[in-house]
Amino acid sequence: MRELREVLENAKEKRIAVAHFNISDSTQFNAITDAVLNLSQPVIVGVSEGEEEFIGMHNAVALVKAARKQGKEVYLNADHHHSVEACKAVIDAGFDSVIFDGVKLPLEENIEKTREVVDYARKVGASEGRYIIVEAELGYIGTSSKLLDEVPEDVLESSLPSIEDAVSFVEQTGVDALAPAVGNLHGMLKNMPNPRLHIELIEEMRKALPDTHFVLHGGSGIIDEDFKKAIHAGMNCVHINTEIRKAYRAGIEEGLAKDPEQIAPYKYMSQARKNVYQVVKERIKLFTNL
Ligand SMILES: [Zn+2]
Repeated sequence: MRELREVLENAKEKRIAVAHFNISDSTQFNAITDAVLNLSQPVIVGVSEGEEEFIGMHNAVALVKAARKQGKEVYLNADHHHSVEACKAVIDAGFDSVIFDGVKLPLEENIEKTREVVDYARKVGASEGRYIIVEAELGYIGTSSKLLDEVPEDVLESSLPSIEDAVSFVEQTGVDALAPAVGNLHGMLKNMPNPRLHIELIEEMRKALPDTHFVLHGGSGIIDEDFKKAIHAGMNCVHINTEIRKAYRAGIEEGLAKDPEQIAPYKYMSQARKNVYQVVKERIKLFTNL
């Protein structure tokens, strides 16, 4: 099995993107890995701090290991971890990548803590003979994977990072991957597509930082045309969470409505698994030009 570093490198060269999907449980995981097998494309499965607590940190690692034994190319990411300690714990547990999210900290402190996570990942990676990807966020895009009525006020008020900001942040921290704010938004607007992306900014960042992996967060709700442009401009990983959650819940509701007396989870949950599979399949196809 390739290392995540190679998978991201390959996507960068080909101007495609590796899809990242969040999970809270093994039903979602199974739906995602079904698509991996059927499309023969690698994916990253991510858990935020809340999702990780629900599924269990070591359980997530075990699911990924089991899937790999079945020939499924799946990688595990710790999505938006807010403390150095939490990042160190997932590195120790065997995650392939970690996102230190210090976006709400003063810049100096964010840089210092991100550097600490990078140093730790390099140390553990060297002793275990593997490479752990470290990602950081630059610029504020909101914090929720929810259905939103409008773009949150604090997102509207925050400015996008400049090329100089991005270059200096990468140089000072040594991160492998950067999730810059480029007009994207965590969560999904209820009644309209999400805001348009600043494609020129992505292009300029890609030119200024040719070795860095660029990750587009808040992918749910972005129109297909913007995805294609953003990936062509240099985003080589895309995060989808809200869409999965929405499809999953709709499937559970449908399963229960169809058979209100049913108590076998594998029966009333089967539509939820199918729904998630469908979202995942379409997204992978779009991101990899299949
Ligand atoms: Zn995110």
